[in-house]
Amino acid sequence: MKKRLFALMMASMMAMGVMVGCGGGESSTPQSDGQETEQGAEQGTEGNADMSDVEIGVCIYKFDDTFMTGVRNNMQAQADTLGAKIELVDSQNKQATQNDQVDTFITKGMTALAVNPVDRTAAGPLVEKASAAGLPIVFLNREPEADVMQGYDKVWYVGAKAEESGTMSGEIIADYWNANKETADKNGDGKLQYIMVTGEPGHQDATLRTEYSVKALQNAGIEVEEIGNDTAMWNKVQATELMNAFITSQGIETIEAVLCNNDDMALGVIESLKANGYNTGDASKFVPVVGVDATAPALEAMANGSLLGTVLNDAENQGIATTNIAAMAAAGQEITEENVGYEITDGKYVWIPYVKITAENYKDFQ
Ligand code: BGC
Ligand code: CA
Repeated sequence: MKKRLFALMMASMMAMGVMVGCGGGESSTPQSDGQETEQGAEQGTEGNADMSDVEIGVCIYKFDDTFMTGVRNNMQAQADTLGAKIELVDSQNKQATQNDQVDTFITKGMTALAVNPVDRTAAGPLVEKASAAGLPIVFLNREPEADVMQGYDKVWYVGAKAEESGTMSGEIIADYWNANKETADKNGDGKLQYIMVTGEPGHQDATLRTEYSVKALQNAGIEVEEIGNDTAMWNKVQATELMNAFITSQGIETIEAVLCNNDDMALGVIESLKANGYNTGDASKFVPVVGVDATAPALEAMANGSLLGTVLNDAENQGIATTNIAAMAAAGQEITEENVGYEITDGKYVWIPYVKITAENYKDFQ
């Protein structure tokens, strides 16, 4: 899908890691019984990673989320590549449902868990369940609190530093502002009047992207004025409704930029702008909009000029890293960079880098 050097590098690193794990060492005897898995565990990275007994139970906070759909498709593909079994379930945005799903996975005898929590502050009880069953648990996309991460030796987190994406999206708007001095400052007051469309309250990506995007504008020496700020819960339709309301209350000509915590919401905002005759190609009727994720529809919107920019939130590598850690841990392998193909920070965290996407490089990601 996304052919780029970085992904290829990571993929080949991962393949190397898997090769090591799958018997790059001397003792590459056929793997079938549990004994060899134990042996592998004792031998650490040198042992065979027997994937035939690996069964990963995965809870996704809700299937109806564009970015998480990308992540889960990559998890499924990677499990297939490794020859590990995987079962992905939809927690339907309900923490109680997710808790039950984890219980069911444990009862069914799954050998690893991967959880994209509905409520990241509710990760503690899930770690307790995993710990009681002795299972590895990998969280993704919604970061549990630090004490929860420290509470068990078989818990990991795969995500991305939200600050980075906030900074990058703010910089995209700052560059536009600086390059279009006369037209960008619509009311000529020297300040950038912007609207902030945020993700789900309490999600680290919503909080930090909001904060760091504004900081990036200020660090670029731009005086800013927030004329609207509300959540659209990561959702396109809600963002269109929110933007309609802002346009009605503020007047479209007062809006000099819209910063969105993700692409679905940026695309929702653009729907509203288009319905008001903006962002359809007439340069005098343009509001710069920025998102995060670099989903396929967002890259299309960049191609047609309605979306100014976005930030790659790397679903592919997040999915692969999560699956690799879960599978390797289930197979009794040590979680090291050599075994999973990704740098492990503080023994527990994998941080997948963001990439700034502008008119110059978006084609490389399509
Ligand atoms: C993504 C959003 C997504 C959310 C789900 C964020 O990292 O940018 O698009 O809705 O994760 O938790
Ligand atoms: Ca202004």
